[in-house]
Amino acid sequence: MKITGWTIHTPDRRFHVLVELHGENGLAGWGAAYSEREQAIGALRWLERFVVGENALHIERVTEKLHQLTFWLGRGGAMTHAISAINIALWDLAGKTLGQSVSTLLGGSHRKSVPVYGSVLFRPVETLEQRIEAMLTRGFRAIKLGWDPFGRQSAAEDEELVKRARRSAGDKTRIMIDAGGSEPFWKLRFKDALERARMLGDYAVTWFEEPLQPDDVEGYARLTDASPVKIAHGEVLTRRQSFVPYFSARAMDIAQPDATKAGGVSEMRRIAWMAEQHGIQVVPHGWNTAIGVAADIHFVSTLSEQSFVEFNTGNELVEQLITRPFALNADGELEVPAGPGLGIEIDRDRLAHFEASGYASGTWAWDENRDYDGSRE
Ligand SMILES: [Mg+2]
Repeated sequence: MKITGWTIHTPDRRFHVLVELHGENGLAGWGAAYSEREQAIGALRWLERFVVGENALHIERVTEKLHQLTFWLGRGGAMTHAISAINIALWDLAGKTLGQSVSTLLGGSHRKSVPVYGSVLFRPVETLEQRIEAMLTRGFRAIKLGWDPFGRQSAAEDEELVKRARRSAGDKTRIMIDAGGSEPFWKLRFKDALERARMLGDYAVTWFEEPLQPDDVEGYARLTDASPVKIAHGEVLTRRQSFVPYFSARAMDIAQPDATKAGGVSEMRRIAWMAEQHGIQVVPHGWNTAIGVAADIHFVSTLSEQSFVEFNTGNELVEQLITRPFALNADGELEVPAGPGLGIEIDRDRLAHFEASGYASGTWAWDENRDYDGSRE
């Protein structure tokens, strides 16, 4: 089934580039890349010649061709992010063409619904309690809090923040803490991270995310060994090959590849298969769009062991981009969409609105007023 063309959509003025593949059968497949917008568009424009005219059912062959062709052309960065969008769109279009869901094409779901956690930033810390309360009311049974000011202040101040979070969430809600160590000039080192990991153990935190700089394989191996709480990271790693040193050194308890960055659903699957052989859990990073969430739901449903889908609450590209918004069921889980492909329908009016209004999702971005030479304390 021939791909006759594609359309690039930019609903976020900084990140999240969407690809809509057009099939000769009149169906469309959607994918998303979490990348810097201009770089992703440039990568997609270069890759287009290798995708348009291809067979949409040949997902693995077409995707691997793109990986091979970009071997020395920016692999691992925006080029791989762009391939992620193409791969997700191929799965969606193939599923729609065959009348099967992506999870069925992946080999079948182990469950009809998947556990989910609501993800928010610590800031504004003044409203931390109210925002946790709102998430509980909405039905979330697991909540992740992250980034500034955690890990950027004293250990005692960090503990105060976690104490507040645990008090408002209650004992039955899972809490995860994300230090956000992929921020430029990250300061925490092994002993700082271990001190905080021990503290988090006192508050029954489910996992401690990105406590170290992403490239510190040795530090992560030591921390994973010593920490009383599970150590999770990997959201900035792309390509299956990047995970090998961490798996070999057991430098994580939980791997967090992102389908919209790491190479799409195909790469997620290969990373998960490798992780399983090393006794490492996979919980996708999903600070992206409704397309990324849908891909994660299908993917997570096919994992044989417990995992979660990350749900970035308040992000309009997650909450409002599709005609039937995601809703938690009575068990606080997300149902696996039954329809063909990803099982979602893009709300074209909303998409046009985002594109026209210059929407910016609440995600990390460089701050024009900040000094990035590492001198800021
Ligand atoms: Mg994170």
